Amino acid sequence: MTAAAMSLLRLEKVCKGYRLGKEDIPVLRDIDLEVERGAYLAIMGPSGSGKSTLLHILGCLDAPTSGRYWLNGQAVHEADATALAWLRNRSIGFVFQNFNLLPRLNLAQNVELPLIYSGVPASERKRLVQAMLERLGIWERRKHRPHEVSGGQKQRAAIARALVKKPDFILADEPTGNLDSDTTREILKLFSALNGEGHSIILITHEADVAQAAGSMRILRDGRLSGADGK
Ligand code: ADP
Ligand code: MG
Repeated sequence: MTAAAMSLLRLEKVCKGYRLGKEDIPVLRDIDLEVERGAYLAIMGPSGSGKSTLLHILGCLDAPTSGRYWLNGQAVHEADATALAWLRNRSIGFVFQNFNLLPRLNLAQNVELPLIYSGVPASERKRLVQAMLERLGIWERRKHRPHEVSGGQKQRAAIARALVKKPDFILADEPTGNLDSDTTREILKLFSALNGEGHSIILITHEADVAQAAGSMRILRDGRLSGADGK
């Protein structure tokens, strides 16, 4: 097995640019990143630094302009759209700032949805959904719709939905961006506990105190990634 195949993911000289008229505007420049299984990494950067662009690449939602990306030893940079969708679906549990729960479904149904899409039988779905809702502390809220629960409970449901398919890692985009500071602390505590249980987490944020909750931190500035010490 190669070194690239052993880590959870690895980016090598990843660049991404956008075409603006005749010009090519570089957004990500020579991003090198290696994330081990079981890591809890924060990527912090100010607005415009390229966080969303990097998130799209890490999340297999977009391909780099150049460079290489391995996820679980698979060459993402060589994947076509079908393979990307498969990787995304299998490997990544997304958590968003706006929760992205379906408003007409209750919390249990929101968590169950990815299992329905991937053809898990009903009895197994019931068992998995219950286990997740209990782990995330929202079993009592299972029959409530998103608008009937607090922001923290919405984010717990979204995390349950991300985890229910046992992804290789959670990719969280400003997951506390819409939460008050008490709830932010509560969700960060939850991420730490989940990481302690073996889940790999990559958290993208512009807030230093949120990033500091992670096990390690890299800083994105003008499309370049450096260590927490700025080197
Ligand atoms: P962040 O999420 O850190 O705020 P983004 O990744 O959204 O940063 O954007 C980084 C830079 O790339 C910004 O200067 C932004 O204007 C530019 N950018 C992002 N998306 C596009 C696009 N589709 N076309 C052109 N420029 C873009
Ligand atoms: Mg952004």
